[in-house]
Amino acid sequence: MSEFTHTEFFEMDKQHFIHPYTDFSTFQDEGSQVISHSEGVYVTDTEGKPYLDGIAGLWCVNIGHGRREMAEAISNQVTTMEYYNPFGHSTNKPAAQLAAKLAELSPGNLNHVFYGCGGSVANDTAVRLAHYYFNMKGLHSKKKIISRCDGYHGSTYLAAALTGIQGTKYGFDAADNLVEYISAANMYRRPVGAEDLTEAQYCDFLIDEFENHILQLGPDNVAAFIAEPIMGAGGVLVAPAGYHKRMYDTCKKYDMLFIADEVVTAFGRLGAMVASEELYGYTPDMLCMAKGLTSGYIPLGATMLSDEIYQVISKPQCEGGLLSHGFTYSGHPVACAAALKNIEIMEQEKLCEHVQEVGPYFFEQAQKLADLPIVGDVRGSHFMVGIELVSNKAEKSRFPVTAGIGQRVFKHCQERGVIVRPVGDVIVLSPPLVMTRDQTDILFNALYESIAAVT
Ligand code: PLP
Repeated sequence: MSEFTHTEFFEMDKQHFIHPYTDFSTFQDEGSQVISHSEGVYVTDTEGKPYLDGIAGLWCVNIGHGRREMAEAISNQVTTMEYYNPFGHSTNKPAAQLAAKLAELSPGNLNHVFYGCGGSVANDTAVRLAHYYFNMKGLHSKKKIISRCDGYHGSTYLAAALTGIQGTKYGFDAADNLVEYISAANMYRRPVGAEDLTEAQYCDFLIDEFENHILQLGPDNVAAFIAEPIMGAGGVLVAPAGYHKRMYDTCKKYDMLFIADEVVTAFGRLGAMVASEELYGYTPDMLCMAKGLTSGYIPLGATMLSDEIYQVISKPQCEGGLLSHGFTYSGHPVACAAALKNIEIMEQEKLCEHVQEVGPYFFEQAQKLADLPIVGDVRGSHFMVGIELVSNKAEKSRFPVTAGIGQRVFKHCQERGVIVRPVGDVIVLSPPLVMTRDQTDILFNALYESIAAVT
């Protein structure tokens, strides 16, 4: 590969690689930045410029870039046994060992895993298996999945339907008939009628909305609720205290499954291996993981299932039917070996403890940005932060889309050697979990200057 010049890579990319989530109005003129090296919390482009990676690749490189131990674990597995199919009665050592490890790390009786290749597929699997579970119990009408506006659950046909971010729907058809949407838990921008409520009252408001929606649909028609502990791509939205546990209790009241989409939050981002139980006090029926599971070194996703669900879906069917769900790469040995090494590194280096210690400092530094006249809201927790930019703080007015304010801040940060992620007018930060206090200071100095520069 290295015989090509920077310009040749740039052109090959521009002509042939359809990038995900890309604005083609600027793509052909501007092309892309080609990232060619990575180490620790830094990545370097083909022109040799290093950048502090404030987004861990894309919420995923939790153990940091360029870890030799990961390369060795991957290479050892490739040379030992690179692939054999996982269907029926065959398996491989890393897939079995990782399954047991994930059961140990997951709360409650989430003791069974279905493997896929990423977060979207983990969520697809959760919904397919939720339907299968209720069908096996003879509850054939339980089909609807309740999701939330501004939730992000991925980009396969079904995961795109679960996703409640309006901007992702434009021009596409969707399998929306399965999905019902309720409000996001958005403390900064509350819906009409909820603006002046206290946090506790706002929580009641959201729970009532959820319960009314279930009753309207008829509980016999509703299979599950899916939610991220903190909404990520929707703008880092933190729910009011007690929300998740009460949503869970409501699910139980109506015989619904709670699917926790922990694709971003699992594996340490908030200081816990799994956020649902440790931080929010509930154990979901299904738990979806990806990203931090391998720290992005290789694709892997996992859907954890409770004992109860497993017992129902694994019962022999009288017509001799089998559980017809799965992928060529379910339990891929190389990906599972990478996940085992990733988890070993996280445990040996006590990365959750590190996040518990440095995360509050990281969030404190983010809150200092609130002094700036266009910073309307700073929210999140630990190493998951969103900074919403507004044209008028008192009125919470949004910038016109044409102002491209998030993108302008991104460019200023880039010039200063720091990568942040603009999601509309929200600047999202999700650094590698190995981030230190000094690196945190570098990031926030650059971000402060960048926001000031566009003010
Ligand atoms: N769920 C959440 C919460 C995510 O943030 C994402 C991706 O960002 C996904 C699901 C989809 O994961 P993937 O892109 O690996 O399919």
